[in-house]
Amino acid sequence: MSATASVVNLDSRRDDPALVSLRTTFQRMHVASRAEPPPSIGERKARLDALDRVIRAHRTAIADACHADFGSRSRHETLMADVFPTLASLQHTRKHLRAWSRPRKVAVHWAFQPGSARIVPQPLGVIGIIAPWNYPVQLALSPLVAALAAGNRAILKPSELTPRTSELLAAMMTQAFDPAIVAVAQGGVEVAEAFSRLPFDHILFTGSTRVGALVMKAAAEHLTPVTLELGGKSPAIVHESYPLELAAERIMAGKLLNAGQTCIAPDYVLVPRGKAEAFAQACAVQVAKGRPTLADNPDYTAVVNDRQYQRLQQGLDDARNKGARLIEINPANEVFPAEHHKLPPTLVLGATDDMVLMQEEIFGPVLPILEHGGTSEAIAYVNARPRPLALYYFDRDSSRIAEVTERTTSGGVTINDTILHIAQENLPFGGVGPAGMGAYHGQRGFDTLSHCKGVFQQSRINGAFLMNPPYGPRLEKLINLLT
Ligand code: NAD
Repeated sequence: MSATASVVNLDSRRDDPALVSLRTTFQRMHVASRAEPPPSIGERKARLDALDRVIRAHRTAIADACHADFGSRSRHETLMADVFPTLASLQHTRKHLRAWSRPRKVAVHWAFQPGSARIVPQPLGVIGIIAPWNYPVQLALSPLVAALAAGNRAILKPSELTPRTSELLAAMMTQAFDPAIVAVAQGGVEVAEAFSRLPFDHILFTGSTRVGALVMKAAAEHLTPVTLELGGKSPAIVHESYPLELAAERIMAGKLLNAGQTCIAPDYVLVPRGKAEAFAQACAVQVAKGRPTLADNPDYTAVVNDRQYQRLQQGLDDARNKGARLIEINPANEVFPAEHHKLPPTLVLGATDDMVLMQEEIFGPVLPILEHGGTSEAIAYVNARPRPLALYYFDRDSSRIAEVTERTTSGGVTINDTILHIAQENLPFGGVGPAGMGAYHGQRGFDTLSHCKGVFQQSRINGAFLMNPPYGPRLEKLINLLT
């Protein structure tokens, strides 16, 4: 079968121009990825440099586009949490690319010596990257860094819910790359569905657990491997020996970044029994310190759209109706017009399992504060629920820190702070269970989007002939030795 023929099976049920263009782009990339030799390290570095240049040149435009898409998105948060992590990942990747790309020599069993074995990373081909709206730049471009470093071509599918940023990403990619190397497919669910049905060599999806399952199902048709970066309810646990004010400061910093619309935001907090009230007070103090006003404060991001805003309001109503006490943090006593989608940080005391807030990922500036009766009880609470994407533990006792990290299973962990494990390029970033599968960042991203091929090389002088038929006493002796 020719390379062209291998892609004629693409879904051609719909004639929408966006879908036709997507199929054509994919087909061109697929054919080229099979016909052309893998790009050299120099070519890959040049691509990473082009990405770096185009991001730096569009810093302001990126902050403007995100601001417009969110209604109000802190420019500092865009630069700190969208632009900086992508540039840091580029820098780290460029620095280590040669070492990661080298064949990795591995040991050989004595029976096959002096043959040699090595793992040879090679490009997979064409990577599909599906990104969500909450960090629309970082979550589209960080996977792209890994894809390009590994020598692949890629098509990005940014979120339709941040259309200006998606449009900007498309313009940036057109400026920086040959469309046979990087392309952007814009559009809504229909385009996204068609995208996930394309026979990519790998799909890296970031988004909700529900859609992640749909993507995996669609990808299964072609046995396309997937990396799923999903969401979930990430707990923060505070030990009673840890200063409550410090925990409140770090937890609210993680919670209010992007107004809680962060996959690894602390979803709820478990504080020692009897301390919920004091912790709530400490949270209010911390918020007022950093953001004495909220409604028009450019440092406080809005909820992205009316649907998400209503979802959060309904969650709060549901909790209130079922007996929770809501503490709205509103230091300047402001009015928050619903159409601005700015939700004041809200603490929830007395939350129970039957409340929507405790069943679904919150993804907004709402923090249920629960109480625990010790580390073991907190661990048991977490372990009785779906495995979270992140877990935060506040304590200075190393044996208890070890106990919590050992006995809980989450995608990643930050101790005595929140969010920051995602910023460590040397740590794999990914979920477990319903929070996702596979990981990227740093070398893990490079390996995920490479085929790590095993190569055995026979030496000129070798003992392989000993295993040839006719089998006799000589082979039997050898087998006895081996077994
Ligand atoms: P989403 O799942 O609704 O959408 C993500 C992407 O999937 C979008 O580009 C969308 O167009 C596309 N999509 C929608 N329907 C599709 C379908 N049927 N087939 C294929 N693709 C489809 O997620 P969202 O609302 O944009 O993002 C929020 C979620 O993402 C939260 O659950 C959050 O925790 C999670 N998230 C995870 C990470 C992580 O790194 N683990 C990072 C950010 C966000």
